[in-house]
Amino acid sequence: MTSRSRQIVIVAGILLPTLWGCGKKESPPSTPPAAKVQPSIATAPVPPFDANRAFADIVRQVDMGPRVPNSPAHAKCVAWLDSSLLSCTQNVQLQHFTDPGYSPGETLNLTNVIASFNPSATYRVLILTHFDSRPWADEDPNPANHDKPIPAANDGGSGTAVMLELARQMKLHPPPIGVDLFFDDGEDYGKYKVDGLDRYFLGVKYFVNNKPADYNPRFDILLDMVGDTNADFEPESNSVQSAPQYVDEIWNTAQQMGLSHFHTGHESDIEDDHLPLIQAGIPSVDIIDGDLVGHVSTDPNRKYWHTMDDLPKHLAPSTLGEVGRLLLTLIYNRLPQDGQSL
Ligand SMILES: [Zn+2]
Repeated sequence: MTSRSRQIVIVAGILLPTLWGCGKKESPPSTPPAAKVQPSIATAPVPPFDANRAFADIVRQVDMGPRVPNSPAHAKCVAWLDSSLLSCTQNVQLQHFTDPGYSPGETLNLTNVIASFNPSATYRVLILTHFDSRPWADEDPNPANHDKPIPAANDGGSGTAVMLELARQMKLHPPPIGVDLFFDDGEDYGKYKVDGLDRYFLGVKYFVNNKPADYNPRFDILLDMVGDTNADFEPESNSVQSAPQYVDEIWNTAQQMGLSHFHTGHESDIEDDHLPLIQAGIPSVDIIDGDLVGHVSTDPNRKYWHTMDDLPKHLAPSTLGEVGRLLLTLIYNRLPQDGQSL
């Protein structure tokens, strides 16, 4: 992900009109009143989540090398996602698009990967993460590393691994609601000090600008850095503003499940892939380990964001398991099916 939103005033005041191009004020995302959540509407049994297999998929991604746009490792990762998802559902879409890089004459070749389950359901949830790796370890304590790509075990690898395991489970246990898994590209490409957020969230920007008018998921859940051994997931401010009822549902469910990494504190605004989705009117919830961003955590083992130290050694299957089991519980046992609310 990009950064903690100390610059949120700049973002709101200057950058977003540029991002959306039209100069019009977008309608704010609808924020329905926080209705009383209906308990356990769907009745499907909740499948298991294989956290060790998800962890192995993080190691596999890191072993490919940094998945930086235009690199062989990036192409390998796209092919791996495509083939892995096609073994789970026939509804896999590759969105190829380009973007100018920072070097003169450069063209980034980017690919969004989207896998759909229960495609005929009208109640749909979009679950997304970025799979690309940041090309610049610009937060590394060693300045010599600032132009090197990061391993991106947690920042890209963890959400990708969790979502692949969701796909495997949804193949075996068709979900009662519609679920679209969106592995987005080019989230972490930007240089904030050069052009703000212009070259962040490239895949999600392309997605919202090209999505069919009749594709309107009820809400989305963004996963970003969801694998740390000591992860701390708290409701993030942009999410609370955009989708209060879904934030409540997710964190209440986590509390009822006794998940140790989900806390009911408050995480300040974070600039992440959910911003373009919110701007497009889709209620969005970012599940993110926010204290990693900007190295806010006092734990010396949790200061690897955007450094060469974003490695599997900091991550744990147990954290991936909590996130995976929470998502499966929401999909199979908490979210309404067609014709129902929330
Ligand atoms: Zn990042």
